[in-house]
Amino acid sequence: MTNARKLEPDIPISRVTLPEASIQRVARVLESGHLAQGAEVAELESRAAAMAGTEYAIAVSNGTVSLELALRALGLPEQGEVVTSAFTFAGTINAILNAGMRVRFADIEDDFLVSERSVAAALTAETVAVIPVHLYGLACNMTELTNLAISHQLHLIEDAAQAHGAQWLGRPVGSFEIGSFSLYATKNLTSGEGGLLTTNDPEVAQRIRVLRNQGMRSRYEFEAVGTNARMTDLQAAVAIPQFDQLEVIIASRRANAASLTARLQGLPGIVCPARGDDPGHVFHQYTVRVTKDAPIDRNQLLDALKVQGVTAGVYYPRPVFDYEVYRSHPRVMVGECPNAERASIEVLSLPVHPTLTANDLDRIAGAVRTIVESRC
Ligand SMILES: *Cc1c(COP(=O)(O)O)cnc(C)c1O
Repeated sequence: MTNARKLEPDIPISRVTLPEASIQRVARVLESGHLAQGAEVAELESRAAAMAGTEYAIAVSNGTVSLELALRALGLPEQGEVVTSAFTFAGTINAILNAGMRVRFADIEDDFLVSERSVAAALTAETVAVIPVHLYGLACNMTELTNLAISHQLHLIEDAAQAHGAQWLGRPVGSFEIGSFSLYATKNLTSGEGGLLTTNDPEVAQRIRVLRNQGMRSRYEFEAVGTNARMTDLQAAVAIPQFDQLEVIIASRRANAASLTARLQGLPGIVCPARGDDPGHVFHQYTVRVTKDAPIDRNQLLDALKVQGVTAGVYYPRPVFDYEVYRSHPRVMVGECPNAERASIEVLSLPVHPTLTANDLDRIAGAVRTIVESRC
């Protein structure tokens, strides 16, 4: 087996493949000499608004800054608390802290997402906003979270960094109050670095535009302490042609996920993604649990897959607050999140990206099966 597979290259956990149109578009921008925010960014924004089904979209420099600007644009009290998922990328919590706010954590459910129940348990009298995270490309229950937000007068900012084109009951993520997307290189849609905000609120959209550009509404009319969070036309040109492919990319990720689930189901201790058949899931990651019923633990499986040429990932190895820098931070309120703790030990993401071939899928599922069954 080792000899046979040496002929085949390792299967990466993600692979950036740009359409030819992106390359041509970037070349045109380079030739035009207009590199900073301009017509390309404006076009990107109209494509993003169409994707999220919102009136407005604002492009910014990355998906962490986009969350921070969403909070700032709402004009929330400085000591107000924001509730977010205990199981997310550090960008979510950094954005909250950089906006000067306090953060508290809601635990996750079996689908790796916060729920009405877990968010409600984390609310205090100081809570002013909730940032649900559509982790791995799966939408949170936005019906319940919207009702909770309304009944407690909370703002809702969706962290849709991993969920371009995902839907909750047919409605696009990012359309509920404010949506925040990342265009980082490994996300389902990319500009290398970049972020997008989506909303139907014209005042919020305008405030984000002002904050993005040094607090300036028109030239040298400063009305807020802003920042430079602009995107360049070069980056927008990379991303725009990918909107034409988004449906195909999503369909391919879903098909790959279904194929993996069909082959992995029933393996002892390996739990395929909850809500894996949700039609709104865009499978930024395909994440299984390696539970205590498996004959091997998650880290051993990760290493054994590597030997077989399959690169898996761990998103994330700890609950987001479980670092000294956050545990000792005066504005980080750490509570019990047993489901996030367990997930951090059990999760393993397998390659699911659109460039996988049928042979790649055979190799991925085959490697997991062989490793697990050989230890039973
Ligand atoms: C990628 C990501 C971010 C941050 O986006 P950047 O563009 O890398 O700053 C925030 N939240 C989640 C859940 C992410 O996956």
